[in-house]
Amino acid sequence: RQALGSLGKSRAKFISAEERTGVTFDDFAGQEYIKRELQEIVRILKNDEEFQDKGIYCPKGVLLHGPPGTGKTLLAKAIAGEAGLPFFAVNGTDFVEMFVGVAASRVKDLFGNARSFAPSIIFIDEIDAIGSKRGGPDIGGGGAEREQGLLQILTELDGFKVSTAQVLVIGATNRLDILDPALLRKGRFDKIIRVGLPSKDGRFAILKVHARNKFFRSEEEKEILLKEIAELTEDFTGAELQNILNEAGILTARKDLGYIGRDELLEALKRQKGTFETGQEDSTEIPEELKLRLAYREAAVAVLACYFPEPHRPFVETDINSIRSQPNMRYTDISGQVFARKSDYINSIVRACAPRVIEEEMFGIDNLCWISAKATLEASRRAEFLILQTGMTAFGKAYYKNQSDLVPNLAMKLEALRDEYMRYATEKCSSVLNEYQSAVETITDILLEKGQIKAEEIWQIYKSSPRVAQPSVSP
Ligand code: ADP
Repeated sequence: RQALGSLGKSRAKFISAEERTGVTFDDFAGQEYIKRELQEIVRILKNDEEFQDKGIYCPKGVLLHGPPGTGKTLLAKAIAGEAGLPFFAVNGTDFVEMFVGVAASRVKDLFGNARSFAPSIIFIDEIDAIGSKRGGPDIGGGGAEREQGLLQILTELDGFKVSTAQVLVIGATNRLDILDPALLRKGRFDKIIRVGLPSKDGRFAILKVHARNKFFRSEEEKEILLKEIAELTEDFTGAELQNILNEAGILTARKDLGYIGRDELLEALKRQKGTFETGQEDSTEIPEELKLRLAYREAAVAVLACYFPEPHRPFVETDINSIRSQPNMRYTDISGQVFARKSDYINSIVRACAPRVIEEEMFGIDNLCWISAKATLEASRRAEFLILQTGMTAFGKAYYKNQSDLVPNLAMKLEALRDEYMRYATEKCSSVLNEYQSAVETITDILLEKGQIKAEEIWQIYKSSPRVAQPSVSP
């Protein structure tokens, strides 16, 4: 058997491989029935022959679906850990690239590698990025490319016989609805398991798992406190519960206390809620100030969407009735080929800056909130994608999976170039918002009054509002 480490040098750099994940089913709490089902699979994987004699085979593919942060990756790692098998992980989005033919060959690499270590586990996170319905919505582009990748996955799944040394493929998605039905057919991902939000008891159990390495005044107090937190965290995911305990640990250390107390836990809970990362429609009261901030955000995003309409993807409407980290603006699903030019990528960075630029304009630089933080994150990601993964910039004609692959002087070059794109994007965005200030105000007013606004009305306002001429901004 070749050493797993040698993989790093192969073309398959995008695969992260682990000889032993070290994760067990004990690390996953709540939803015991999921563990029972997966334990069965582990048993089959471990005593391959014994089960084969009885005619029981391991499924080829297991699909875990449910909201982000509910432990799908954790479960996949636990299967590998419990069965003692090597774990090959990729993200579906890694297959989708500019260059035709790359997706299919990446899939081949992945399966080839996993097979040479069989029995082994392949984990494809966000499998919807490559496995969504053919001919369906093509968000992010690369339709034909992705389709070839998907076909290759199907070929690979059909290719190996169940009786030979097994490669178990585990897929994860939060969009079961958009997966290509071909993936779900018998002999492919034929075991589909929903990983949902934990119940109150489940939350208590998850909190206990993550409290294992934390100090409390006593076991009794720990039980009481964690029960209370479990009560207060309806709709929280495992990842968010873990965050609460980590945050409480940090607060405890900062205050120089020896153990986590009720105050720290409640404070951590408040912070976790404050980040509004639950992805839930929040139907409860939204504070007035936040409403105003959301309305400005949506109005700014709307004006930018008129100024730089996203190619092939018209917007439909927006509202301020829910709190999300990304703008609430909704777009139509698009079908067919998408054709994004370099300028489209750059414009998308400009658009992503809108929430940050408007917030600074309206509330002042010392009064920004998480809305700005999220926008900055999104804009930087887009800039990095353009620089590292398209080969279209001064950075060079190469593809880099991520920053951590870069040697130091390239990392500096990346930083300089990213700063330059961010500077241009912020200036351009600011210039557009100043030019269309009156449209922004009108749309904001309507949002505050009615809670929502449709594309048609946005376009009307955009076209008919007075404009203030601005000096030109060049890249
Ligand atoms: P997903 O793949 O569904 O997005 P992850 O497996 O990446 O979610 O979850 C992130 C982290 O949250 C895990 O590493 C784990 O620490 C914690 N977590 C999530 N769900 C659970 C759970 N049911 N029990 C214990 N920890 C959990």
